[in-house]
Amino acid sequence: MGNKLVDLKDARFAIYDQLKISDLFAYEKFSDYSEDTIELAINTAEKLAVNEYYPINGAGDKAGVGFDDGKVTVPAEFHAAYKKFCEGGWTAPAESYDWGGQQMPTMLNYLTQMLFFAANQSLMVYTCLTHSAGKVVDIFGTDEQKNKYLTPIWEGAWAGCMDLTEPEAGSDVGAIRTKAFPNEDGTYNIKGNKLFISQGESDLTENIVHILLARIDGDPEGTKGLSCFIVPKFRVNDDGSLGELNDVVCTGIEHKMGMKGSATASLAYGDNGKCVGELIGGRGKGIVTMFHMMNEQRIVVGMEGISIASSAYLHALDFARERKQGVAFGQKTGPQIPIIEHPDVRRNLLVMKSYTEGIRALLLYAAKCLDLKDVAEDEAERQKYSDMVEMLTPICKGGGSDRGFDVCVNAIQIFGGYGFCQEYYVEQLARDCKITSIYEGTNGIQANDLLGRKIVMRDASAFGVLTGAIQSAVNAAKEIAGLTEYAAITEKYLNQFVAVGELLRARLKENGVLAYSWATPYLAVAEDVAVAWMLLDQAAVASEKLKADAGCDADFLNSKINTAKFFISSVLPQVSGKLDAIEKNDDAFLSMEDKYFIA
Ligand SMILES: Cc1cc2nc3c(=O)[nH]c(=O)nc-3n(C[C@H](O)[C@H](O)[C@H](O)COP(=O)(O)OP(=O)(O)OC[C@H]3O[C@@H](n4cnc5c(N)ncnc54)[C@H](O)[C@@H]3O)c2cc1C
Repeated sequence: MGNKLVDLKDARFAIYDQLKISDLFAYEKFSDYSEDTIELAINTAEKLAVNEYYPINGAGDKAGVGFDDGKVTVPAEFHAAYKKFCEGGWTAPAESYDWGGQQMPTMLNYLTQMLFFAANQSLMVYTCLTHSAGKVVDIFGTDEQKNKYLTPIWEGAWAGCMDLTEPEAGSDVGAIRTKAFPNEDGTYNIKGNKLFISQGESDLTENIVHILLARIDGDPEGTKGLSCFIVPKFRVNDDGSLGELNDVVCTGIEHKMGMKGSATASLAYGDNGKCVGELIGGRGKGIVTMFHMMNEQRIVVGMEGISIASSAYLHALDFARERKQGVAFGQKTGPQIPIIEHPDVRRNLLVMKSYTEGIRALLLYAAKCLDLKDVAEDEAERQKYSDMVEMLTPICKGGGSDRGFDVCVNAIQIFGGYGFCQEYYVEQLARDCKITSIYEGTNGIQANDLLGRKIVMRDASAFGVLTGAIQSAVNAAKEIAGLTEYAAITEKYLNQFVAVGELLRARLKENGVLAYSWATPYLAVAEDVAVAWMLLDQAAVASEKLKADAGCDADFLNSKINTAKFFISSVLPQVSGKLDAIEKNDDAFLSMEDKYFIA
């Protein structure tokens, strides 16, 4: 068995054989990349993840984050690990050469991040939010702002964070109360309070750049009145040196069930009237600006969830091979057998393997679309990939986090009583993973997004791009001996998913409340259909490779085919119950007034 973070044989099969990362090398932006450079990046990332980040994940969980008089200290081991991350150029590898990036294909960037997230989520949260903050400056900043902030952010010398949430404004971003008052020099005085801000304060870096949503005094209520601001912890002088503290005070940190090495801060801005922010992205354009950061983060959070799940699966697999209980099936006596030989454990492991590999492939495919939507030469192609990214964002976020958490819980089950004990690592993985279904827009909000925005987007043509791609994979698999039956099962549920999508679109116009009551089950169906799509596609590629290449790794390729067959025949049909319920559209939901929830 390789590392216990990400099955790299499977991931390599996904990027090389299934998703053909080499297609990207033809574009100018990625012309410096080849299989050799990709392998170098994967191997370097694996070493860093396995040797540096994974061994300190437990220590971070135990030590947690310290808070004393406004100062926040991260777990001691994180300092050296973060430094190595920055020195290795991992903070912004996909960014332009112009600002010190490596123009790495997003697919490769994601795969390396999967290793890092699987090794140490808490540590990674510091780095990925820094990247997102930089991205906002890169896309929306003026030249002056880029010159001031971008290089230290991309290099990781300064951290970045995103400051949205307030006590009264969680999912309801439009309720934000933090205010910005214009100054004569074009800057703004910021006044307000936020909470739950990841790395809102820490001793990991010399400065922190807050990308903050606030309402300029006099601007309208709701999301339309919000603007985005750069608010540094230390003010930055024109020559790039650090000036005085900027009146951003950490008033406390959260004590969380998981991700304990990550600082989650409550912040007060401008209590002394001295918090200065710079507008970025235009007045009243805060949501558009911030959404860029949030959309990137939503896919990344899905990746976070499934990467933690990947590690939970590999730990459970290892345990199931070692742990002996019971005798062989049908025998009364005999030697104890490894629990992996018990049908129920085997089935559990297969469910975990299917979701882990299927959602991983989906994320890597989304990464390819993210690049192609920008670099494809043809406008229609760019639109197609842009539609695909829109459709896949809630599916990747919801699937990576909810199914990822299920995998972690299943891992605990496979460990039996040991899984419930802190000495065994999988309980930490489950605790850590849970946040992924809550932040970056709860999965309830993702479900609303799929239903209310994505399946109606551009007259349902974005939905058609997704379902058309799945149908193409089904058509290809139908022609492959051994897969016809599985292609037909996938097609059956794809058709039902499409038909129910049409129903829901009509219902959104008739009775939005009832339509939205089905949002979460519909998202869950979309996730399973997408996993079936990826696994079927992988099985088709594996089947062709088995035929064409006498020297291939037949055991591995057959395992890919079996995984697809298992998921499509045993898990996918379970979507039918959810789809039937949505079709029936029972209105007991509407009759259930608040007072009836408890007699
Ligand atoms: C560890 C941690 C780190 C975080 N990091 C950050 C960060 O870096 N920056 C930041 O700004 N925020 C951050 N957050 C905040 C996080 O994004 C919010 O907790 C999240 O958006 C939900 O908001 P809330 O907690 O106020 O829950 P609420 O919005 O009150 O939601 C409660 C429940 O109601 C449901 N709900 C609410 N509205 C709707 C609706 N319209 N439709 C359907 N269901 C709905 C939700 O799905 C949820 O189940 C972090 C939170 C935690 C716990």
